[in-house]
Amino acid sequence: MPHTPFWKTKKPDSFTAEEWESVCMHCGKCCLIRLQDEAGADVYETDVICRYHDCQTHLCRCYAERCRLVPECLRLTPQNIGALSWIPDTCAYAFLAQTGDLPPWHPLVSGKPLPAEFKVSPHVVSELLVPLDELEDHIVEDDDNV
Ligand code: SF4
Ligand code: SF4
Repeated sequence: MPHTPFWKTKKPDSFTAEEWESVCMHCGKCCLIRLQDEAGADVYETDVICRYHDCQTHLCRCYAERCRLVPECLRLTPQNIGALSWIPDTCAYAFLAQTGDLPPWHPLVSGKPLPAEFKVSPHVVSELLVPLDELEDHIVEDDDNV
């Protein structure tokens, strides 16, 4: 009998911690630095990435301590994921919140590694290399694949 995967049989708030973590595809897109205008209405994505993002493995180098070391690092939960407008549509959590399913490119669905096109570009720059007053120069267009 075919096995029905957990994300099709349970709501996200019933996932175990391990199941919730396994939804992350480690694409790195939520680790890009985003700038918000003064009114807080608009968010602009840059091609600059958090200092703790490992561009080889696409893993966080301080995952267990990320909320302490990087106060802006948001802990995604079943409660907040649907309300975050800046999360990229390709994020597996956003996709799950919007559709109730995981995307076909997700490794849990395809059984293959995440294709490069869904990961951050190899050309992103660490925030360690970009002075704060130059961040605006790194804002990217909506249709750029960063
Ligand atoms: S954008 Fe979503 S899927 Fe990608 S690393 Fe961040 S939380 Fe994981
Ligand atoms: S602390 Fe880790 S998870 Fe948070 S933005 Fe930086 S690299 Fe990403």
